[in-house]
Amino acid sequence: MAVETAGGLREEVTELLQELIRIDTVNPPGNETRAGAALVDYLARSGIQGGLVARVPERANVVARIPGGDGPSLAFLSHTDTVLADPSEWDRDPWSGDLVDGEVWGRGALDMKGQVAASAVAFASLQREGFFPSGDLVFMSVADEEVGAGFGLSWLAEAHPDAVRCDYAVNEGGGDRLLLGGTPVYLCATAEKMSAPFVLRVHGRSGHASMPGIADNALVKAARYVQALGAYEPPRELIPEARGFLEAVLGEVPPLEDAVTRANELHPLLGALVQPLLALTLSPTMIDASHQRNVIPALCEVTVDCRLLPEQTPADAEPLIRAVLGDGPYELEWKEAVGGTRSELGTPLWDALDSFVQELEPGAKLAPIACPGFTDSHFLREAFGTVAYGFFPVKAMDAELATKLVHSANERIPVDDLEAGVHMLRHAARSLL
Ligand SMILES: [Zn+2]
Repeated sequence: MAVETAGGLREEVTELLQELIRIDTVNPPGNETRAGAALVDYLARSGIQGGLVARVPERANVVARIPGGDGPSLAFLSHTDTVLADPSEWDRDPWSGDLVDGEVWGRGALDMKGQVAASAVAFASLQREGFFPSGDLVFMSVADEEVGAGFGLSWLAEAHPDAVRCDYAVNEGGGDRLLLGGTPVYLCATAEKMSAPFVLRVHGRSGHASMPGIADNALVKAARYVQALGAYEPPRELIPEARGFLEAVLGEVPPLEDAVTRANELHPLLGALVQPLLALTLSPTMIDASHQRNVIPALCEVTVDCRLLPEQTPADAEPLIRAVLGDGPYELEWKEAVGGTRSELGTPLWDALDSFVQELEPGAKLAPIACPGFTDSHFLREAFGTVAYGFFPVKAMDAELATKLVHSANERIPVDDLEAGVHMLRHAARSLL
């Protein structure tokens, strides 16, 4: 692809990522301030006055800005915390930052210190070139994304809205590459599903397990509800992300009842990706009944992981779920629902990422997706109506492998993908601003 500056960025981003991985920011407790300080130091070497903004001293966020004209602003958004790592499961020390066969190893390499490093290097290199954007270019690398205890972007958006308000943002959540019928397709997360878990509470009557006839076994009663939820096929609808995705990968929008089959014909894993784009999903995942073998439970609680389509609400879903469950008695209690925001498609940021993938691989396509998990994009969309997309190209590493390594052992990132990420962000800034 066209490289906009002479080399050097490859080494720079590799070294910065190694440094960040060697700073343990497992959340909890996070301790992101040390990673933040390393970033502030790094940016300062390119003449950028980055600042630490913190609710408590040990959990700082980094915000920096290349001021531009009064055009729309763009943010490179990332988070510095990681999930935990159990060294006994790893082939290398999770905080080694070792460079082995062209890959940087360590917790956070994919989620998401790799993108943190690429964002910082793209930002610093633009500054060094004297880039004057038409609107502000903002770097924000925040704390506490993985737990969400109120130290990161949710807090910044409330306490320091002027520091983080932006029109566009590139964040995590997308960039996977699928090879479909010979065409590379890169996924761009333009929306998120809402995570809306609920608990089903089924009542019975306890009794001695040796005489089932004297009791009313809540666990047995719950079994048919679990079965019904597992077998349920919720009504499908064509949301904009599904339309865009199907058009990109199939070249058309088939009848919705055929969409999963058509996708599977193209690639055996594609159906599993399409299905959650077409409807809410229900997965019973936890069950709690008697805590003693010889006591028949009077109460059985089934926890259901439920993901709604963007902008769907628990109130929309509840009648559907009750219809599937049929007659009670049971109680249905929603737990805290989070996420579920979306950004429009076809924006100037979309065009910028689309032209990037064309440069990266001629003939490649960009396809929108509603990310099943939660990211910080939600807080920007909610507070400022930001067009926030999750995108970081995963080209050198097989997308399936990358998905497996996130939050798992032996997490690592190819330097080729890091470098492509730097160019993607530089391209986005130069195209948009
Ligand atoms: Zn992440």
